[in-house]
Amino acid sequence: AELDTLDIIVLAAILLGTVAYFTKGKLWGVTKDPYASSLANANGAKAGKTRNLIEKMDESGKNCIIFYGSQTGTAEDYASRLAKEGKSRFGLETMVADLEDYDYENLDSVPSDKVVMFVLATYGEGEPTDNAVDFYEFITGDTPTFTEDSDPPLANLNFVAFGLGNNTYEHYNSMVRNVTKALEKLGAHRIGEAGEGDDGAGTMEEDFLAWKDPMWKALQEKMGLEEREAVYEPVFGIVERDGLTKDSPEVYLGEPNKMHLDGSPKGPFNAHNPYIAPINKSYELFSVKDRNCLHMEVDVSGSNLSYQTGDHIAVWPTNPGEEVDRFLDVLSLTGKRNTVISVKALEPTAKVPFPTPTTYDAVVRYHMEICSPVSRQFLATLAAFAPDEETKAEMTKLGGDKDYFHQKVNVHHLNIARVLQTVGKGKKWTNVPFSALIEGVTKLQPRYYSISSSSLEHPKVISITAVVESQHLPGREDPFKGVATNYLLALKEKQNGDPSPTPFGLSYEITGPRNRYDGIHVPVHVRHSNFKLPSDPTKPVILVGPGTGVAPFRGFVRERVKQAQNGETVGKTILFFGCRKRSEDFLYEKEWEEAKQVLGDNFELVVAFSREGAKKVYVQHLLKQRAEEINDLLLKKAYFYVCGDAANMAREVNTVLGQILAEKRGISDSKAEEIVKNMRAANQYQEDVW
Ligand code: FAD
Repeated sequence: AELDTLDIIVLAAILLGTVAYFTKGKLWGVTKDPYASSLANANGAKAGKTRNLIEKMDESGKNCIIFYGSQTGTAEDYASRLAKEGKSRFGLETMVADLEDYDYENLDSVPSDKVVMFVLATYGEGEPTDNAVDFYEFITGDTPTFTEDSDPPLANLNFVAFGLGNNTYEHYNSMVRNVTKALEKLGAHRIGEAGEGDDGAGTMEEDFLAWKDPMWKALQEKMGLEEREAVYEPVFGIVERDGLTKDSPEVYLGEPNKMHLDGSPKGPFNAHNPYIAPINKSYELFSVKDRNCLHMEVDVSGSNLSYQTGDHIAVWPTNPGEEVDRFLDVLSLTGKRNTVISVKALEPTAKVPFPTPTTYDAVVRYHMEICSPVSRQFLATLAAFAPDEETKAEMTKLGGDKDYFHQKVNVHHLNIARVLQTVGKGKKWTNVPFSALIEGVTKLQPRYYSISSSSLEHPKVISITAVVESQHLPGREDPFKGVATNYLLALKEKQNGDPSPTPFGLSYEITGPRNRYDGIHVPVHVRHSNFKLPSDPTKPVILVGPGTGVAPFRGFVRERVKQAQNGETVGKTILFFGCRKRSEDFLYEKEWEEAKQVLGDNFELVVAFSREGAKKVYVQHLLKQRAEEINDLLLKKAYFYVCGDAANMAREVNTVLGQILAEKRGISDSKAEEIVKNMRAANQYQEDVW
């Protein structure tokens, strides 16, 4: 009950505006700007908000709170989808919440007629996501202390849980498993199964869909909920602002927050606030025509950003113009692309995922993941807004039939606009409320890259080594292209005056909002990681990094070269690299020779070429050939590092290492596996995989 008068005026105006939007009416011109909202303001106000979840639920009249622990946005997206479905199908009063925004001492006071849901991603080596660290430590701690003194403490708590994991990692879905165990130990009641989605098998979305139906059934019984005809209710109100144009200074054209809008971005630079960094230089690393791998040097000397060898840099991409145009076109928004809109959450616990006032063009280009895989459930939602009955029937079928959806949408890597074009046979989708798109399309996410420079050598210049995503798919005319890597490719082409091979590459708005990224800049932030060289440089290291997995090891090797040049004693460094052919994709070939000049026999490069001989050779084969030496180095307390492909390579390397230990030490396989496990636990075996 903390709506102030301005909020009420704004909400009322927005409601009117929503009506105007649906009826395509015109709203009167406004002189002041009561609708202005910005993420910067919203986040800035966080300090004053309650961290008491009971208070928050009571004050906003909610009986279902859905917490997310999210790193890349998927868990957050699933939480929103649960919230919407709970509301529209069962009339639950739902809210979505960031785990980091609340305290958990009074979890024991959540009454039994309410429900708490947890959507939890597991990150890296079984770790919580950044925003879930405190909650995880609290709930799995030895003795979490709660406000009341009841026994068991959480006897009243009803909870629902879904985990997002990857079975190629050793600690598969450990977050949801450990949190469920901890909650149950504290006496809480789980409703339905604790679901587990598997990104490794590529079945995350289907696992989620298959889990949630029985969960809703169980919840319905437990809470006595009545299912009703699901009606679409917009979460966001959209008002077109006749008084403003895209040139008005208060209109966001893709700037991530108020400081950027005002043209004076200040640190700290982080996941909410990127640094617009100049690129010092960029060049191609492959010597073949049809594949690209970029080396880019990002200069952070104008900021307070710092990094350590082994950290990650996040690149904030923009969408390719070609796909922005397609999206606006199929929704009949092309004519209005520069129309200024204000967006306001129609209910107090929802957050507008971008700052406003802004334009349709800016929202689609800078804030929505419009190229990513489409959710089947979203197609079912959009069926209601289809241009005709036939299209509606087809959308409903796609939404309901997993195999049909896979065959029609997934195998061609169609994005949402391509689905709407294909299913609607070119008809425009004029009835889709823009709110449904904001809700159904995820927020555009930064992409992470393992930093390939050494902070000892270049503390303020961060290098990226990125292979450009481009795939020819059967049954599809144009190749599928990744968003961020083609954006980086376009930047590299512009910087070097290269001709672009495709119109796709030309279509990126690489000069950024208000041309502020001109002169070859890219928005970035740094994420610290635990992937680190041993603090004692005399320790030997074994590095396994085929393909772009070599990125952090370029940093490691350069670091050791620098240490040697500084007069330090540096232990043996052995690097296993893999590529197709020496003449095509042998990354940094010259640099390894230079390293050898300094490090001598203390540096060795072992390369597996998969397409040179009759037989494919991979890094794991070469590891086996070097079994004796690897075992010796490990006995001398060498550190073992793996970087690159999580799905196959990293797992096989892990297996091979076990085999090597078993063979060379004459121990059983299970004993050898245990040694590898202990090495991981002691950080003597580290992975940086994706
Ligand atoms: P995206 O557009 O994000 O597409 C990526 C993939 O998603 C596609 O290949 C496809 O499989 C799938 N996909 C996307 N859209 C669809 C669709 N519509 N339908 C079906 N499938 C779809 N990469 C490097 O090159 N070098 C590195 O050093 C590096 N380090 C990393 C470190 C970490 C910690 C992590 C998490 C990742 C790292 N990556 C690295 C990977 C990198 O973050 C990006 O994922 C990669 O560059 C692709 O980004 P993109 O935007 O070009 O492709």
